[in-house]
Amino acid sequence: MRLVDSHCHLQADRFGPDVDAVLEAARTAGVERILVPGWNAWSCEASLALVDRHPWLDAAVGVHPHDASRVTDAEWTRIASLGSDPRVVAIGETGLDYDRAFSPIEAQHLNLRRNLALALETGKPAILHVRSSAGRRDAQDALLEELRAAGFGGGVAAAVFGSRPPAVIHSYSGPVDFARAVLDLGLAISISGLAFRKGEEPTAEVAALVPLERLLVETDSPFLSPPGGPRGRNEPEWVRITAAWVAERRGLDAAEPSFGDGLVTAYDAAFRAGRASQPHA
Ligand SMILES: [Zn+2]
Repeated sequence: MRLVDSHCHLQADRFGPDVDAVLEAARTAGVERILVPGWNAWSCEASLALVDRHPWLDAAVGVHPHDASRVTDAEWTRIASLGSDPRVVAIGETGLDYDRAFSPIEAQHLNLRRNLALALETGKPAILHVRSSAGRRDAQDALLEELRAAGFGGGVAAAVFGSRPPAVIHSYSGPVDFARAVLDLGLAISISGLAFRKGEEPTAEVAALVPLERLLVETDSPFLSPPGGPRGRNEPEWVRITAAWVAERRGLDAAEPSFGDGLVTAYDAAFRAGRASQPHA
């Protein structure tokens, strides 16, 4: 089975000396691409160090909504300069989290805006985290507003990205019409083990409606282990459980080659196709 893990925090401290074995298990499970997003200054640098040791991985740099008010201006300057590094294929993760507002909402919005601006400046897609409290959708609606205001879905993003997705909704969470709205803006959607949790039922329908060329799967390791995976630390090999579930929602067998080929093609279209046009490539 060909697989990708479009969001995997292998630099987290729950991984360490055994990261080589974790990657070996992922390869054995069929995982051909792994994107390692940062969330603050330290984790962005650590993502690049991992890519140096394992060149088949890809890095992303940006600031998570939880860290929005903690990252200093000097740290942001450093992260923004890493944005044009050729090992970096995306900007993030960033976004909005109204559920666990570890940073004040206003700080999250300012942080999101500068991450979106960096995505447009570098021509690398933004990786977007978006969570509202149970039963609400205010973070999703606010994210749509921010995306439109920044020029996503319009001529600004089209001039930079062409037909490539200018952003990815990672670890999809939200109502079905939110998925339709982000697809209308040209975004890609990535589905994680969050889909199996109570309150996330709409994701089953979303898994079926995303066009294959804009569909990704991820673990969000070390978090969000899917049922059947380990209860403690999630690892990239377990993306196979989520991928099989997504395939089933689409009336497919995950072993069907067109499905795995589609995931790899969608990953490359989102994260690697832009390389040729980047000044550092
Ligand atoms: Zn994440």
